[in-house]
Amino acid sequence: MVDLQNQYLRIKPEIDKAIQEVLDSTAFIQGPQVNLFADALATYLNAEAVVPCANGTDALQIAMMALELKPGDEVILPVFTYVATAEVIALLGLTPVFIDVKDDTFNIDVDQLENKITNKTRAIVPVHLFGQCADMKEILRIASKHELFVIEDAAQALGASYTFTDDVTKKAGTVGTIGTTSFFPSKNLGCFGDGGALITNDSTLAEKARMIANHGQKTKYYHETIGLNSRLDTMQAAILNVKLKYLPDYEKKRNEVAHYYDQALKSVDEVKIPVRATHSTHVFHQYTLKANRRDGLKQYLEGLGIPSMIYYPVSLHLQNAYKQGNIKVGSFPAAEKLSKDVISLPIHTEMKEQELDFICQSIKKFYNG
Ligand SMILES: *Cc1c(COP(=O)(O)O)cnc(C)c1O
Repeated sequence: MVDLQNQYLRIKPEIDKAIQEVLDSTAFIQGPQVNLFADALATYLNAEAVVPCANGTDALQIAMMALELKPGDEVILPVFTYVATAEVIALLGLTPVFIDVKDDTFNIDVDQLENKITNKTRAIVPVHLFGQCADMKEILRIASKHELFVIEDAAQALGASYTFTDDVTKKAGTVGTIGTTSFFPSKNLGCFGDGGALITNDSTLAEKARMIANHGQKTKYYHETIGLNSRLDTMQAAILNVKLKYLPDYEKKRNEVAHYYDQALKSVDEVKIPVRATHSTHVFHQYTLKANRRDGLKQYLEGLGIPSMIYYPVSLHLQNAYKQGNIKVGSFPAAEKLSKDVISLPIHTEMKEQELDFICQSIKKFYNG
């Protein structure tokens, strides 16, 4: 699904040098590369502050802690997403309130948002799934009307741009109250282990998040709040510093792959190519089709040595860990249908035309014989 080896080999001298510098300095925790990277990413995103942390899941947790969400508070999130979003809500004793997604963009269905708001609702967590932004204008409108925080989960959409109707453009993660992202190796900007960050234009909130990520202390051994041990280590920051320069190239390459798939597959009646939202660019963390006979297609491709993945086979309301009272099969029809129809094809920065051609020919053969 990804080719991290060739991506590394392409920039090996630069990466190796950056790693060697960390080894030579032995400043493995809180070395200078961490702040350098945070500042470079803030500049790239045109954000006031980036607070690095240990992974994208922690970033979500730290965001909710920094916003002082309290047990019993309700947090609205899409039911069709990676589990991390719901996990931290539950861990903090908050109540996850699921909402269905749009069957075309796979993102949170804003038309259902206001129905879910109660007097306990404190925050909305839009997830920019697969690399394109949710409908942020409408989310911001509703959030401001009801005085809710907006926590953008931008783990899959780092670099994507959201355009408002007045042509103002903002990067994913900088639109709401606070944004979070992940540098897991297979993400669009991946390190060589775990890593994550929070993004915000509110410097007070950034300060608080920074403190929480480091045991609730500003001054060593003076703890002002309950925190976590969640730091981005120096080695990962050094690697990310090198790779950040290439993020626009990576995004371009992923879009070229997506375009190839689109052209080759748009005429296949039994699959639907991904829909591009008008308000967002797409950074194609995943290239996800809706396919008839999805499981058969997956098996057929597997037989030819072509990997594919199902993101996500079971939507959150049907997961054993997140079942809730009266919610059952049929409660979120769009998400349930997607979990039966979606299939993600290989997409990464090192794909060759020959591979793409083979994948597309194979899909056509499956359907047309
Ligand atoms: C990857 C991901 C996360 C979690 O990031 P980790 O770094 O793996 O903890 C959270 N949300 C979404 C949507 C993701 O894709």
